[in-house]
Amino acid sequence: MKFHTLCPNCAIETPNNVTLGSIIFNDSGVYEFQCNNNHVSNIILQEEQFQVLFEIGIDSLATEHPIEAIVAFAASLERYYEYSIKVMTSEKCIDLAESKASWQAMGKFSERRLGAFIFTFLLTLNCTPKTLRNKLIELRNEIVHNGKIPTAQEALEYGQGVLEVIVHNYKISTERLNNAISKLRFENFEVSKEKTNKDAYCTLHSSIGSAITRVMESKDNVKPTLNEFVESAKEKINRYSKLAVPFKQTDKKIK
Ligand SMILES: [Zn+2]
Repeated sequence: MKFHTLCPNCAIETPNNVTLGSIIFNDSGVYEFQCNNNHVSNIILQEEQFQVLFEIGIDSLATEHPIEAIVAFAASLERYYEYSIKVMTSEKCIDLAESKASWQAMGKFSERRLGAFIFTFLLTLNCTPKTLRNKLIELRNEIVHNGKIPTAQEALEYGQGVLEVIVHNYKISTERLNNAISKLRFENFEVSKEKTNKDAYCTLHSSIGSAITRVMESKDNVKPTLNEFVESAKEKINRYSKLAVPFKQTDKKIK
């Protein structure tokens, strides 16, 4: 599961001969990479981790891996709940460390986390959030606990359901909690900057143009579906497999 970039150093020095490189997604959001001419640069991705996980789900569907797609979409939704609670507690001026401690006190139980999200959302935004249909929750549980092998169509329906839940709720919070979202983004960016290689040529603050953002920004009557993103990912994977070379990467500590 990769995104693509040009080496910024080559782009300045040899603009007519620049190699496109592929970069594998990681958990930190900070990427230190080296092109074939040994130039080292950093990228900080603008997307939140739940958006990156959703892109991994799309690529898994595009490469015909439905189980991996469902696992990535489910992880995206859980990370969205976590992110959303961080935004809402920040809006209420609750210390980030306290928010983290309460999150950890719930343990790794999906139902507890969902319950916390629903009521924090209600108390902050005065409305009930959209949640995943029971049929889709059962599908994920069947896969994780009973080893069910899903079809591509089931994975597509699951991903579409997750997309609708995240976009619906995220849209409400971005309209009403914009200051808290900007504050959190700034704090994350400062943490990310600390992880970059200071001797690198430069640090790019890049966007992968995530599906979640694109659906959020589309009008209701022309919202792209998950199937359209999957078809476009198939075409992109096919095109870039011939064009791009893997850039060397240095692992970064997680957030
Ligand atoms: Zn280069």
